[in-house]
Amino acid sequence: MSYQALYRKWRPQVFADVKGQDHIVKTLQNKIGSGRIGHAYLFCGTRGTGKTTVAKILARAVNCEHPVGGSPCGECPSCKQILAGTSLNVVEIDAASNNGVENIREIREQVQYPPTEGKYRVYIIDEVHMLSTGAFNALLKTLEEPPSYVIFILATTEVHKIPITVLSRCQRYDFRRITLDTITARLKELTEAENMPVEDKALRYVAKAGDGSMRDALSLLDQCAAFHFGETLTYEHVLDVLGAVDNSVFRDLFHAVRENRTKDCILKLEEMVVQGRELSQFVVDFIWFLRNLLLLRTADDAEDLLDMSEDNLTQLREDAALVDENTLMRYIRVFSELSNKIRFANQKRVLIELAFIKLTKPEMEQSMDSVLERLEKLERMVEEMSAGGYVPVQTAGMDGDPMINAGHTRSRSTAALARRETAWSPQGSLHRIRQICRTSKVRARIMSRGPYPCRKPSWKIST
Ligand SMILES: [Zn+2]
Repeated sequence: MSYQALYRKWRPQVFADVKGQDHIVKTLQNKIGSGRIGHAYLFCGTRGTGKTTVAKILARAVNCEHPVGGSPCGECPSCKQILAGTSLNVVEIDAASNNGVENIREIREQVQYPPTEGKYRVYIIDEVHMLSTGAFNALLKTLEEPPSYVIFILATTEVHKIPITVLSRCQRYDFRRITLDTITARLKELTEAENMPVEDKALRYVAKAGDGSMRDALSLLDQCAAFHFGETLTYEHVLDVLGAVDNSVFRDLFHAVRENRTKDCILKLEEMVVQGRELSQFVVDFIWFLRNLLLLRTADDAEDLLDMSEDNLTQLREDAALVDENTLMRYIRVFSELSNKIRFANQKRVLIELAFIKLTKPEMEQSMDSVLERLEKLERMVEEMSAGGYVPVQTAGMDGDPMINAGHTRSRSTAALARRETAWSPQGSLHRIRQICRTSKVRARIMSRGPYPCRKPSWKIST
């Protein structure tokens, strides 16, 4: 028999095997049990959360001759036919490639005739949000007055793209992202059934990389297992295959950043590049590492929010004690900006290096905004100066500038007059520029001190 992908091989066949969607499964089972079956269902949720799987089970359950607790029996001819894909009662349509009016018209022609065997004809329309406007209108006609033997199951990842007129005619079910524990448990179950030796830590990492999607997690597991076929799948193997970075690397980097060791950060990054790690993934994972530190510092009982082993948690607690919240927030801010930029960048490595330099040299990052501001002021000044004519000293600079005001009050003295004369020479301009740079530094210092009453005395001191 040819190889079948894990997620297809282990697709749940009964409602009881569907993981993480208990609220939906229970409702559907009750409806089937009590015979209150709707004619239009809308399944929405992110990819790999079980929409198509549940739709297929539902299609078999409504046609099953002896349903067991609302689930298909899997034994009767109807169940067997649908499973084998030979039944005419279940039609699967991928709206991504059949999104025209004519495709929906075809369905409308078909639904005029009741099924020759079985009770219901079920249409599963996947990615229904891809239908054209015309196709939606055509579908609406059928949804308005469906024959009693027809059931539509519409599945979508983007429910906001579906016209309200269609929404209002469907029973809506929202599929949740599947939790890490649920995915891990399922992966463990499958690897045991497949006789695949694998470390628990490796499974947990794969489940985490699945990011709430069972199908993604299973595909990743498939990929890792294929790469290390015949040996125990370890945590290191998984990191290798997925191009991910171990937690210890994040710790080393964090310590290097905290101690302002720029060179060590760059070297560590180079190491990762040589190992062929996926840099975008690294940035995302590092943000999560910092986020966990921040949670440990700020939230009570943060341990419940963090999904990790006791060993990791102890280490993380030690690290979190070394920095304050503001610093962590700055780290996260710099890296979040980076993750936005890096997505479409060619020089990912350079951008990451830049971010590390920003983190390890805080004075550089801090001065960026103020340098821009100061430059702007200088430009304005030079413009005014080159326009010629007399410019009063206090308006040439900034309003309320302590240095300039101080100069103004003494302007009657000859020394001040002489200074004013030289103000138009190149040396004078340089002098003014230096003055402004100094005053903006003073101002920055004053601003950081707080409300107004504290400022005045400090001006006097600085002048
Ligand atoms: Zn059956």
